[in-house]
Amino acid sequence: MTIRSKIHLFSTVWLVLVLCIINTSIYWLFYKQMTGLELERLQLQSEKIAQRLHEAGSQADATELLQAYLAPIEMIRIVNQQSHPVVTATKDVDYASWRPVYSAQETYQVVEKAGVLHAVGQVPMIAGDGSIMSLEVTTGLSHVQETMQTLLIVLLVASLVVLLPSFLAGRMLAKLIVEPIRSLIRTMEEIQKKGQFKKLELPVKSNDELYQMGDTFNKMMDILQLHFAKQQQFVLDASHELKTPLTVIEGYATMLKRWGMNKPELLEESVEAIYSEAVRMKKLTRQMLMLANPDEEANLDMRAVDVVELCEETSKWMRRTYEQEIRVEAQSAAVYALADESRLKQLLVILLDNALTYSQKAIRIEIAEQRDTVSLSVIDQGVGIPEEDLVHIFDRFYRVDKARARDTGGTGLGLSIAKRIVDVHNGRLDVQSEVGAGSRFTVTLPKAAREKAGENA
Ligand code: ADP
Repeated sequence: MTIRSKIHLFSTVWLVLVLCIINTSIYWLFYKQMTGLELERLQLQSEKIAQRLHEAGSQADATELLQAYLAPIEMIRIVNQQSHPVVTATKDVDYASWRPVYSAQETYQVVEKAGVLHAVGQVPMIAGDGSIMSLEVTTGLSHVQETMQTLLIVLLVASLVVLLPSFLAGRMLAKLIVEPIRSLIRTMEEIQKKGQFKKLELPVKSNDELYQMGDTFNKMMDILQLHFAKQQQFVLDASHELKTPLTVIEGYATMLKRWGMNKPELLEESVEAIYSEAVRMKKLTRQMLMLANPDEEANLDMRAVDVVELCEETSKWMRRTYEQEIRVEAQSAAVYALADESRLKQLLVILLDNALTYSQKAIRIEIAEQRDTVSLSVIDQGVGIPEEDLVHIFDRFYRVDKARARDTGGTGLGLSIAKRIVDVHNGRLDVQSEVGAGSRFTVTLPKAAREKAGENA
């Protein structure tokens, strides 16, 4: 069953139910009110007749008296204790066939005989001879029945008058709700079929949930489109980046094939070039794999990491490899950040590697503690980065000086990886740089809780 039919069915059934309850209540209250009035009137009449009969005394007078009261009444009779009618006065002989019942109690009730409602009252009375009898007064309620029937028709017509517009309104409402959903489904199907991004055509801006749904869908499409474009750009850049080393390798391999075997100096140069390009490619592919890994956040092993110790250790072996001075300056002997140790080390290596590559002078690592954060700055006094390039250096494959980057073995991916690592740690990576004066890369990470740090330290 479609949503439209469900909404429609639900609203209609609900309305019919409510109408039934209201109509039944009105009908029942009205019936009670009318029959109550009739029974009250019958009571007055019955008591009056009983009084007059008591005063009249003889049976002959009783017959006459009852005839006199018969005008608005269908039947009056006196029933003895054996339930036999003693005196009967009736307009219609059919009434006389009704079975008489003696009642020692005064009762008034509505009974139905042959499809017609009657009010029947029974009043105990003392006959002329002193015996106790029951005076039975029966009056027809056909006028009440007629009024009730009219009421029934009025209620039915009124219900139909209410039901019909509500039925149509329900259909319109269901259409109003379902149409945007249908349009969403159509667009999704089209996207699925054609494999292209497509947005919904939204009506005038409104605050309703259906507009919000469409708007969210369109925003989602924008994000997907952006990611897709980035992905495509990444593939393009990656292929472009891989093309250069492959061309170099191909060139040297061709040279080797032609003359290499006979010229030892060419052989050595080619093998050297092929080797260094292969190393470059290996680094590039490793970095690309790292960036393409979507599980980066899920696999983090977050714990309290002593940043001072990590910097000391890392700078020790980098100092040895690059044969360049690296100083670690910390506010205290141990500063704990909440981080994944291996990723933090990787981040530090990227920043130190850049600093060492683009600077010949000593490198400084400054570690400071703030209220909730820990900051780590890698400061060099190297070439610096021009202001217009600063916004781009975290982009994939971006290099300030393309020609020099090749000489330094740079891939343009290091800082994008660094940024990604900082992002998954909910931290910040800032850069300050001045051409000719040097650069300062500052990483800010959440601080580890003291107790936790104590446990892990
Ligand atoms: P690469 O592998 O080329 O170093 P990165 O993403 O690490 O790639 O850096 C991007 C560019 O930013 C580099 O090509 C370089 O021009 C510039 N850069 C990064 N760090 C520094 C630094 N400490 N000093 C000067 N320039 C830098």
